[in-house]
Amino acid sequence: MSELRERDEKYVWHPFTQVKTAAPPLEIIRAEGASLIAADGKRYLDVNSSWWVNVHGHGKKEIGDAIRRQFDDLDHVIFADVTHPAASELAENVVKLLGKPMSKVFFSDNGSTAVEVALKMAIQYWHNAGTPKKQILALDGAYHGDTFGAMAVGQRGFFNVPFESFFFHVDFLEFPDGDNDRKILEKAQQLFALGECAALIVEPLIQGSAGMRIYSVDFLERLVALARQHDVLVIFDEVMTGWCRTGKLFAFQHTDAVSDLVCLSKGLTGGVLPLGLTVVTESIFSRFLSDEKVQAFLHGHSFTGNALACAAANASISLFKDPSTKENIDRLTRRHQAFVEMLKTFEAVQNPRSFGTILAFELRTTDASGYFAQVRDRVYLYMLERGVLLRPLGNTIYLNPPYCITDKELDRVYDALRSFISSELVNNI
Ligand SMILES: *Cc1c(COP(=O)(O)O)cnc(C)c1O
Repeated sequence: MSELRERDEKYVWHPFTQVKTAAPPLEIIRAEGASLIAADGKRYLDVNSSWWVNVHGHGKKEIGDAIRRQFDDLDHVIFADVTHPAASELAENVVKLLGKPMSKVFFSDNGSTAVEVALKMAIQYWHNAGTPKKQILALDGAYHGDTFGAMAVGQRGFFNVPFESFFFHVDFLEFPDGDNDRKILEKAQQLFALGECAALIVEPLIQGSAGMRIYSVDFLERLVALARQHDVLVIFDEVMTGWCRTGKLFAFQHTDAVSDLVCLSKGLTGGVLPLGLTVVTESIFSRFLSDEKVQAFLHGHSFTGNALACAAANASISLFKDPSTKENIDRLTRRHQAFVEMLKTFEAVQNPRSFGTILAFELRTTDASGYFAQVRDRVYLYMLERGVLLRPLGNTIYLNPPYCITDKELDRVYDALRSFISSELVNNI
């Protein structure tokens, strides 16, 4: 056993892992572009962008330089009663990119805290207004993070059973699959009409953890319009969908819908440092202005506005202005579309789809309950042996690679998937 593995086994507790039965972790010691390099020299294509965060590829020089420069000037400073150039520059960048009516940026550390902050702001908004409201509305299958508030507005089940009795009340709308859209909108209208709903939170147009489930622009626009009519605040959780994952900078930009609050993280820093942002309209912000201190948003984290993370984010945003980034995103989008067409010819493949740089499909299994885990593990190991790090969600296989992935690298991934799908491994399921 290597020294790294020995030390890891002795001291480390890994996330989302049943340590007792899990295989030993990959030992990754380097990364460049779309590749991760293991201690034994083996290379793995990082086709899920290291948990969906690494948008530009690893070791991007511009981001590294920005972090080094920032460290020489200012590493970190308390953010209450203090400001600094990297944070204020980032706030301006993000407000301008999101467009009207976004106006103010609140800093935190990750996607879950960005959501947590948005929920607390929405609840306190109504409290400050003197009309407190007790309900939050979310979609079935939602994932908004792993802290308590974020868990409460997410899909109930398997992952959070032990905590369920501690969650606040949330109403869930069925997932809109097209056929049931009208029924769901009626249900939403009824709930909104009760006047108790503080906020609606959604992942715009595509749910990530639920298995890259796509729903229609029309549904989102109608749901948001209903919320507006009934004075319900709208929160867009763009933690997964932001930073061109769906082809546009933000998923909501495929629609005419706008929200009151937007949550950002993951690709925000190019995926190299943790940072979360909750961006709000002037009307949300101004509800907290008062001579009373208790009306302020009394929330913060030790690392709020961390200067290194802000510098990385500013550098990442600059990279989006580089024409080669857009070319890569467009190329990836087209290649995924072509591969989806190819996938349609396979019996074993269900609902192949793509949305910008995301590609997903389900493997048809005869026994829905028992084999999910097995199929997941088989694909995972099969791809790993072929130098591709791909983590399926149950029987949903998906790709969301760094945009710098080359055509040749993509061919390797597509070829490996194709050979898995046509292999005995899947036919025997
Ligand atoms: C990943 C994710 C989160 C949580 O972000 P963390 O940084 O993992 O806490 C929240 N919302 C969505 C949509 C996500 O995909």
